[in-house]
Amino acid sequence: MIGLRSPGIARVAALAAHCDDLAIGAGGSLLTLCTARPGIRVDALVLSGGGTEREDEERAALEAFCPGADLRVTVLKLPDGRLPAHWDEAKAAVEELRSRTDPDLLFAPWSKDAHQDHRGLAKLVPTAFRNHLALSYEIVKWDGDLAAPSVYQPLAPDIAEAKVSLLQEHYPSQRSKPWYDREAFLGLARIRGIECHARYAEAFHVNKLTLDLEN
Ligand SMILES: [Zn+2]
Repeated sequence: MIGLRSPGIARVAALAAHCDDLAIGAGGSLLTLCTARPGIRVDALVLSGGGTEREDEERAALEAFCPGADLRVTVLKLPDGRLPAHWDEAKAAVEELRSRTDPDLLFAPWSKDAHQDHRGLAKLVPTAFRNHLALSYEIVKWDGDLAAPSVYQPLAPDIAEAKVSLLQEHYPSQRSKPWYDREAFLGLARIRGIECHARYAEAFHVNKLTLDLEN
């Protein structure tokens, strides 16, 4: 298995329906990317939680998950669980993000995610980002929608541990949820690590990827 290298990544966009989705789905990858590339531009768009304690949590968390990055965070106020009823606002937000950045890489939800907000946002992403590599993250949940991903970012053990610590530290509003614990996060990372011959990993679904075999 070869690791595809991506030396030219200078801009990343990260999209989520809810506060904490990005940290859970791609926190280790964001840590890896931002630690290796000081000053990388990260535009984060979160559709819900704006104006609440969850926005404060999200802003502080993303600062921690994107150390040294040129980070720009937008947290909107769409109601949790109601994205289909707010389709136009969500679409406008994704288009507005697209007008501000031309990312080399996107982190976004997966189009087959069982949560309708995640799924809805996933379906909007390619309507605005027409020629971009989108890594669709996975979020473990009661609905049981984990599938076989195709792309892996191995995580160094200290990065995997840091991800779990930051998740515990920055989202006190979520700690009471029965699934929100160290075992769940590190366990999935360990399983994804097994699947790519690493100790830990985050995994992504990719709908489309072009190669450049000349270089
Ligand atoms: Zn979510």
